[in-house]
Amino acid sequence: MVGEQNDNIDGAPLLRDQPSGGPGQQAIDFVSRIVAAIELTPMVAVLSIDRSGVVCYWNQASAALYGIPAEQALGCQLEQLVQPDGRADDYHAAIAAVWHSGQPSPAHDWHMQTTAGRQLWIYSTMFPVFRDGQLQQIFRMDVDITARKRQERTLHLAAQVFESSRDAIVLTDPQQTVLLVNQAYSSVTGYAAAEIVGQSLALHRSGIEDEARYQQIWAEIGQAGHWQGEVWAQRKDGQRYPAWLSLTALRDRAGHISNYMGILSDISDLKQSEAHTRHLAEHDFLTDLPNRVLLRDRLSLALTAARRNHSMLAILFLDLDRFKQVNDTLGHHTGDLLLQEVAARLVRCVRGADTVSRQGGDEFVIMLADISAPDQAAHVADSILQAIAQPVLLEPHRLSVSTSIGISIYPDDGSDIDTLLKNADVAMYHAKENGRNSLQFFSPQMNALISERASFAQELRRALERQEFVLEYQAEIDIASGQPCGAEALIRWRHPRLGLLLPERFIGVAEDNGLMLPIGHWVLQQACLAARRWQTAGYPLVVAVNLSPAQFMQKDLVDTVQAALQQSGLAAPLLELELTEALIMKQGGAALATLKALRGLGVRLTIDDFGTGYSRLGHLQDYPVDKLKIDRSLVAAIVANGDGAPRTAAVSAIIALARTLQMKVVAEGVETPDQLQFLRQHGCDLYQGNYARRAGQLDGLSAVLGAVEP
Ligand code: C2E
Ligand code: MG
Ligand code: MG
Repeated sequence: MVGEQNDNIDGAPLLRDQPSGGPGQQAIDFVSRIVAAIELTPMVAVLSIDRSGVVCYWNQASAALYGIPAEQALGCQLEQLVQPDGRADDYHAAIAAVWHSGQPSPAHDWHMQTTAGRQLWIYSTMFPVFRDGQLQQIFRMDVDITARKRQERTLHLAAQVFESSRDAIVLTDPQQTVLLVNQAYSSVTGYAAAEIVGQSLALHRSGIEDEARYQQIWAEIGQAGHWQGEVWAQRKDGQRYPAWLSLTALRDRAGHISNYMGILSDISDLKQSEAHTRHLAEHDFLTDLPNRVLLRDRLSLALTAARRNHSMLAILFLDLDRFKQVNDTLGHHTGDLLLQEVAARLVRCVRGADTVSRQGGDEFVIMLADISAPDQAAHVADSILQAIAQPVLLEPHRLSVSTSIGISIYPDDGSDIDTLLKNADVAMYHAKENGRNSLQFFSPQMNALISERASFAQELRRALERQEFVLEYQAEIDIASGQPCGAEALIRWRHPRLGLLLPERFIGVAEDNGLMLPIGHWVLQQACLAARRWQTAGYPLVVAVNLSPAQFMQKDLVDTVQAALQQSGLAAPLLELELTEALIMKQGGAALATLKALRGLGVRLTIDDFGTGYSRLGHLQDYPVDKLKIDRSLVAAIVANGDGAPRTAAVSAIIALARTLQMKVVAEGVETPDQLQFLRQHGCDLYQGNYARRAGQLDGLSAVLGAVEP
């Protein structure tokens, strides 16, 4: 009896129905025998179900396989314990077929999952069990094949990886005879599988031609089991390509080498994109010339060679003359095209071994490697000056540019990169000062001048806090009445070493060093305070203050002016600000807004140095300006014998213009009675200049204004 035998084996009633004798006994006996046999093999899970799918038998192996103890399984619907995961219809059809046919089912692999979430593959066979000629139960034997399935899957994946890899893969036997290559092998190497399978790997060396290296690589594989590195491989058609080769020894369980595997990857694309990235990092995007990084690299190599060979090397530092003007007037696009053309011309002026680099902006540095004498550098520089001076046609413009070149020579002017570059730069600076479009060799004296300039700037920086600035006031006199009505504040610097310095000596340096803002601010405050004092002393004179470009462009100029008025208690109409036309033009549309805002405060505005710039008379009437100040160079042209006729005409024209625009007009730099006479005749309102003092016009006033003694 199945049940009894079962009881004997497990000591637990695993069968619900106790089968009795009668027809079908034969089949039961058969099953009983099988069950008895497999019960002894704990690998096989045995279970049975009745027609309604209820579990009637559940052995130990079933409990272990499905993780469900017999007590829980018996009497339950099998479907509630274990279900097929996928192919459910086939599974149910297989069971139904046994009930229907009364025949054992062929074996099947099913992927099952238990209610508890366990997943496994089983190999399952079903047998019908009859009693009294009636099919009563189905017995099922399930064998766990999960591990095998996993292995199959892994093998399948491995095969897929092998075939779909874009790298060439070769498998050899322990004697390095090729057993297998993948599909990519042909596309990478150009050899068909048939051409290599069965051959020795040694015949295809994957670019490792050097015998010693080849031996060394195999020795390393013998020791470490692995080697990888970059090689220059060769395709069947002879084409060489950079490749990454990796060779591995595969061992069997016993530790003996069973195979060798080689993987060859074509890294041409990678190399190309690497090279592209490096090119971008080392070249200027606009001109494609080497940038400062690459220049330093090449300089360092060239210097090493020059030191070894006791040869000379030249550095040419170039800066285009007035390039900024091109950019400002014709736009950046034209500026860029000009730089590209200059770059191309520079390259044509040197040899292949030399390096032309762009440092940024309009600065280029050329390294002439290995020259025989400084003359050679001068010769190249000369031809560069000529090449650059040829007009550049950038439709519709025909541009004329020039460049200034400074030259330093190794070993005379320095032995390291920085010194040589710095000295070439210093020499370039001198070339600019000597009238541009020229070349200049470095000399040690140049450094002295440069450092003098640097210390001058340093002193200027400290001049404010050391209170070394003073203001001199020059009176403005009403021509009709001869009465002073205002005074212009003119800055001077009491230099501790150099004595009293006029603005032309230091204003440029102050502007270059960003010092004009604080200095201009100081002038404004002092001038307002002075005017307030004059007022108290009974002279309500207007004080005129010159504004620097930096001040005019400053956003909070209006606030600064207002603060100076408030702090001094000066009424706004007693302050006059002087601007030049060039400054107003440079600011463009923004200038008008600033001028209006200043006028809104109640201060007066004057255009200084009028008649020197390229006046846009059309715009003049739009500006909220009160006064034009005729430049002293025009006034100086008024001479008794009438030599300066054209300029004199300009003076009278300006006076007439000011009348039309209902502006006041003042002439500056009046030194002679003739000049004053001329101005009076032409209806000029005011004048200022040395003549006033000489003519005694300022009696009493000088003391008030506080003359500055040299
Ligand atoms: P500017 O505003 O046109 O000043 C007039 C210049 O002519 C002054 O030169 C003045 O000393 C000079 N001058 C006056 N009368 C005569 C004369 O009869 N004959 C001759 N030959 N020259 C005369 P200075 O003081 O050297 O100033 C030069 C320039 O420096 C000024 O030209 C002005 O643009 C600038 N500047 C002076 N002070 C300041 C300042 O405080 N701030 C700013 N931003 N610029 C200033
Ligand atoms: Mg002035
Ligand atoms: Mg002036």
